[in-house]
Amino acid sequence: MDISFTPQQQAYRAQVRSWLAANLPQTWMEGGLWPAMSEGEEQAFFIDWERRLYAAGYSGIAWPKAYGGQGRDAIDDLIVNEELGAASAPESINTIGRELVAPIILSVGTEAQKRHFVPRILRMEDTWCQGFSEPNAGSDLASIKTRAERRDGRWILRGQKIWTSYAHFASHCILLARTNIDVSPYKGMSLFIVRMDTPGIEVRPIRHINGLCHFNQVFFTDVEVDEDSLIGPLGRGWNVAVEVLGFERATTRLYRQARFSEELRALAHHALRTETINDALRAEIGSIAAELSIMRCHNMRFISRMSSGAHIGEEASFLKLLWSSLHQKIARLAVELLGPELDAISPIAERFRRVYFTSRGETVYAGSSQIQRNILSERVLGLPRGERRSGR
Ligand SMILES: Cc1cc2nc3c(=O)[nH]c(=O)nc-3n(C[C@H](O)[C@H](O)[C@H](O)COP(=O)(O)OP(=O)(O)OC[C@H]3O[C@@H](n4cnc5c(N)ncnc54)[C@H](O)[C@@H]3O)c2cc1C
Repeated sequence: MDISFTPQQQAYRAQVRSWLAANLPQTWMEGGLWPAMSEGEEQAFFIDWERRLYAAGYSGIAWPKAYGGQGRDAIDDLIVNEELGAASAPESINTIGRELVAPIILSVGTEAQKRHFVPRILRMEDTWCQGFSEPNAGSDLASIKTRAERRDGRWILRGQKIWTSYAHFASHCILLARTNIDVSPYKGMSLFIVRMDTPGIEVRPIRHINGLCHFNQVFFTDVEVDEDSLIGPLGRGWNVAVEVLGFERATTRLYRQARFSEELRALAHHALRTETINDALRAEIGSIAAELSIMRCHNMRFISRMSSGAHIGEEASFLKLLWSSLHQKIARLAVELLGPELDAISPIAERFRRVYFTSRGETVYAGSSQIQRNILSERVLGLPRGERRSGR
């Protein structure tokens, strides 16, 4: 087993690194926008950045050229992500489009869907949100109540979604709905493509503790969509949704590991500069660094698995548990190290305030830590199934 990078891959890494060094926007400092911008200005900034990345050939790395991708392989994709993370480059605001929707369309979509949607995602012409969770169906996703009924060759959607990230500006949604209530939920769900400007959709933003808006409630009242809006086969929505969740847990934001390492480095430098380092903090920094290298090994393992055409599978929960708890450790370290300075108006304070607040939700979205532990214990380790609140 040789997990080192070839000379060609190292040359590609050097090329990406120098492009980033020359092209990161001036207003991007310490992994954040400085000075801070309004929400609308931020949105425009991120869309422009993603378009520039695409124009330079650094997005859709492993996707086929026929659908607008670069036609390279998953290892080059990892390399680009590691460089984006190490440069703490701007994050994607179309992560759902790029990292969930395009991959699932490439996996189970029709040829027409691949040709239409994938290039539009890369060019940032469409932005996406993910309509899975409902008020009483988060961890227990099979309990969703949103219905889709067929009428005169169209689907009529009714129901409510919640915690829908980016729905306040997304142009499209992947929506999980019940298409048959006479069979088990696992056989009676389907996944739909819904345009967010369709009549009957109402988006109500939910403000976060830090005042920003990231997720929303979304109401669907007699929303009509075409028959060809299904992603994957009718009634197979559960399997398709599980595949989407596998991407979300294992291969979204592949730059995370490098970005977290950069955050750790920034904190360690700050501690040295301000002479706040002590033995306990030194030990914590060392322990986080060790876990970050485990995370990198897991990233490589999944990339190697995907390169050989295998499905991600339940072991995605290992990575999900790891990245979400690690980011909270980094956030706690930032609080210890920066202390009152975390309230200051400075790039480093702005950066780690964001890390702190963002990391709170990371052990919840894409499936909570408890659910990841259930999956690992039952489906990977084969332990007996625990009790379920819903009794299923
Ligand atoms: C920042 C953020 C962004 C999100 N974005 C989206 C999005 O874009 N689209 C979307 O569809 N959803 C999104 N979500 C929703 C997210 O997927 C759900 O919050 C998550 O699945 C948990 O569901 P819930 O909130 O209904 O909590 P519940 O399922 O009610 O869980 C409450 C608590 O009980 C625990 N619990 C539940 N069942 C079990 C069990 N069987 N065993 C042990 N413990 C259990 C959970 O771990 C949790 O601690 C987002 C959430 C957050 C925080």
